[in-house]
Amino acid sequence: MTPLERLLKRRLAAGPLTVAEYMKLVLGHPRHGYYTTRDPLGAKGDFVTAPEISQMFGELIGLWCAHVWGLIGAPKRVLLIELGPGRGTLMADAMRACRKVASGFAAAAEIHFVETSPALRDMQARALYGTQVSWHAKLSAAPREPALIIANEFLDALPIHQLVHTENGWCERLVELKRDGRLGFTVATTPSPLAAALDPQVAQAPIGSIAELSPKVRAMARAMAKRIAHFGGAALLIDYGHAVAGAGDTLQALRSHRRQEVLGDPGSADVTAHVDFSTLTAEAASVGIRSFGPIEQGVFLRRLGIIERATMLKRDADKAVAREIDAGLKRLIDTDEMGTLFKVAAFGPRSLDHLPGFVR
Ligand code: SAH
Repeated sequence: MTPLERLLKRRLAAGPLTVAEYMKLVLGHPRHGYYTTRDPLGAKGDFVTAPEISQMFGELIGLWCAHVWGLIGAPKRVLLIELGPGRGTLMADAMRACRKVASGFAAAAEIHFVETSPALRDMQARALYGTQVSWHAKLSAAPREPALIIANEFLDALPIHQLVHTENGWCERLVELKRDGRLGFTVATTPSPLAAALDPQVAQAPIGSIAELSPKVRAMARAMAKRIAHFGGAALLIDYGHAVAGAGDTLQALRSHRRQEVLGDPGSADVTAHVDFSTLTAEAASVGIRSFGPIEQGVFLRRLGIIERATMLKRDADKAVAREIDAGLKRLIDTDEMGTLFKVAAFGPRSLDHLPGFVR
């Protein structure tokens, strides 16, 4: 038994956990959590993210930031904050591209990473070797100044609650220890106070339905929106998820690129859920800033010029590398790959009526 399993079983012996408590413990436990202890990314890891697929992803996002920096008046100093930067690949590609074609922005940008995993902080330091970087455990610890905030596949790792529609109302789905010593799901017998926050449409889903809520994702979106409202800047949020709230169980566990049982081998697989983008845009509206999108990742990257960038890269490439560039392009933008499932939304101040990649 791993130390995390031992810890989890001790906690569960005292009573069931909500799905959110389970995710928080399994992913983020300060000593034994999934992210805390390893680099989960890449071919040898459990999942591959867009920046790991192709350098074009980070490059285009870097240039998006440079463009937005121009739109907000090109301040002499701007924070470039990335939430959950993984291996640091996106930022390394972004800064390389900006130094070449947007040197004013590259000189103004001060990089801040919000990262809880010591293992990944080390990798990020290596990826950004030679560039000044500050690390924070929380967004609230970053300086209170104009900032461009990027989050790719970060929000999907934040804990979600699942509620089950029962005859008694919407009750919390719980993780418990079964008689045979294995983990299993059960449902609370009394309705959850969280049910009040369900989208009215979702609340009418048939008995037996599962609905998901993430106060953590909401709080994160609100914190970003408030920063933009008070200090200026913008945010770019990319994740897999849906544009409109709906009922359904989207919790999934990935290990070695394969789906596995969510509660099987806790701590050895990445556990994530779809991001409900409607909650992000609602938080922006409640703070009085603008939100853009969500739009599909494929559409967004095409508008930023990914096809042209691929053509340019292929000009100097041999056949094998050209094939790799095409394969990366396809994975990022094709509808049956990441092009449709992944969505992009942005936050901006009221003074901006458009942002690159989003139609007015
Ligand atoms: N953005 C990267 C990595 C995505 S994996 C990429 O696209 O490749 C999720 C990242 O979020 C990891 O770096 C993980 O350690 C970090 N993370 C997860 N929960 C976090 C939290 N609560 N606070 C800060 N970072 C977190």
